[in-house]
Amino acid sequence: EAKLYADLGDFRRAYYERVAFHEAVAELHSDEQEARARLIQASYDAGEKRRDAERFRELALRDALTGLHNRRFLDEALRSRISAAAERSEPISAAIADADFFKRINDELSHEVGDEVLRRLASLLATAAAVVPPEIVGRLGGEEFLVVLPDTDSTAARQRCETIRRAVATYDFAPITGHIPVTISVGVATAPGGSTSPAELLADADRNLYAAKRSGRNRVMPAPC
Ligand code: GH3
Ligand code: MG
Ligand code: MG
Repeated sequence: EAKLYADLGDFRRAYYERVAFHEAVAELHSDEQEARARLIQASYDAGEKRRDAERFRELALRDALTGLHNRRFLDEALRSRISAAAERSEPISAAIADADFFKRINDELSHEVGDEVLRRLASLLATAAAVVPPEIVGRLGGEEFLVVLPDTDSTAARQRCETIRRAVATYDFAPITGHIPVTISVGVATAPGGSTSPAELLADADRNLYAAKRSGRNRVMPAPC
């Protein structure tokens, strides 16, 4: 009987030890799980921070009004596209598109309408030009936009710009601007072998833009053939 109690005692002790062991293991597991959860959370937070930083960087390189790349981005990107073109002796083209008589829209309608026109122009530019990387489209500032076309010779660049010009000229701006038409003039520049500088290419495009303005606006210069 004593042996039985003793056995029973052992059994009980063994039983409680077992329970305690399982509880300890369970606790250990939940500690591990918590640690793992903390680790996952930490790496998620790090990812969030990185994504935040990327989002911030991305925003710093975007124009707030149109969402297009801004001048800061364009300067860097144009430089790198030119280097790549020069390295491969490939042509590179750049075009400056400037809204015609834009001041009139601000003056006769409102600055808000002007802003809306700029937003429409931005999306027309991006879609009509069917700009795909490594091509770039962005807002240089004001009512001026830049399109960079790597590996595109003068003939092809002028044609692409003519497509954009026509897309703007035929877009129905009437609901926004009423009787005031919206058109753009475009100056195109090409470095046939890629050897140029951002300043030189932009100055060439700007000169041609000026010629387009002087000769009547709503046109691409040099004229597409
Ligand atoms: P042109 O055909 O010779 O280019 O004439 P223009 O009136 O377009 O040229 P100008 O450079 O005289 O005027 C550009 C105007 O664009 C002046 C400025 O008030 C306006 N502008 C610049 N940035 C913005 C903007 O962010 N929003 C609005 N609404 N207007 C802007
Ligand atoms: Mg201008
Ligand atoms: Mg203008």
